[in-house]
Amino acid sequence: MEDLNFVYSYDLMRQEIHELETVHRGLVQVEVIGQAPYGRDIFAIGIGHGPACAVLSGSHHAREWMTTQLLMKMLRTYASAYVSNYAVGGYAVREILDQTTIWFVPMVDVDGVELQQRGATAFSESVRESLIQMNRGSEDFSAWKANAEGLDLNRQYDGAWEGISVDAVTHPASKNYKGTRPFEAMEVKALMAFLEKVNPPAEIAYHSAGEVIFWGLELDLDDPRHMAGKELANLTGYELLPPLSDKHGGGLTDWWTYNLGKIGFTVEIGSPTTGEGPVSQTEFPKVWEANQAVGMWMANYVLQNSLLSSGDVQT
Ligand SMILES: [Zn+2]
Repeated sequence: MEDLNFVYSYDLMRQEIHELETVHRGLVQVEVIGQAPYGRDIFAIGIGHGPACAVLSGSHHAREWMTTQLLMKMLRTYASAYVSNYAVGGYAVREILDQTTIWFVPMVDVDGVELQQRGATAFSESVRESLIQMNRGSEDFSAWKANAEGLDLNRQYDGAWEGISVDAVTHPASKNYKGTRPFEAMEVKALMAFLEKVNPPAEIAYHSAGEVIFWGLELDLDDPRHMAGKELANLTGYELLPPLSDKHGGGLTDWWTYNLGKIGFTVEIGSPTTGEGPVSQTEFPKVWEANQAVGMWMANYVLQNSLLSSGDVQT
């Protein structure tokens, strides 16, 4: 039985990152890519021996922290599979990771996850009142999606940012506030700088919920990225949705696919009935089953399609 009260916290993530780095020295590398507004570190963990093929990110949205739990298990599994030389989902992990590095940024909204899980008491006394005010006077932060400044980090990328109109709000809030300009949030700046540095051809952004996959804004169905999306849908059993209109922009995958022309996906784990909170822990085994090979699939796709350009930064 899964523990229904289990919470995958920022501290647990840091502890697991430290263990991975210690046990798998040489295979796993850790970088602090920046800080969130209240000083918490944002981590990137690379696994492999070649240039970067993909960055997999989680918890752009605070309440969606099961994506961190998933990515950390993926990382531990790939590390063990490399050492013991076994395959995951039919993919030869050691062979793939000897040619390339997969990067994980398992928790982008580090402040927000702490706020969602622990409430305003996770912050210094001087800011608690303003946090509660942003939460419309409530001390219950269980539905919180934004960062601790009330910015929606997945409405902060320059992918059709101007035109975002779906559920838009005009002030800092628990969700959907896009800010005054793209890339103003410290967390998003940090991830963008990291993506520019390691220069991966692919990205996958994990969110919840719905068991669906988004693959870009206003793209053509003849696009090879659509075929790749079908493969990912087959692998996970999730539904590949048609491209969204530019009224939904501002997400990492929007910017990545629509503006940069690269391959990327937003994968929504968890049942469509999840509602305004985290995915239930009862679903984690199913989420793991559906997604465990996704990092390997993406890496293999990049290698098979020769997307690692010689100009990519070696890491
Ligand atoms: Zn989300």
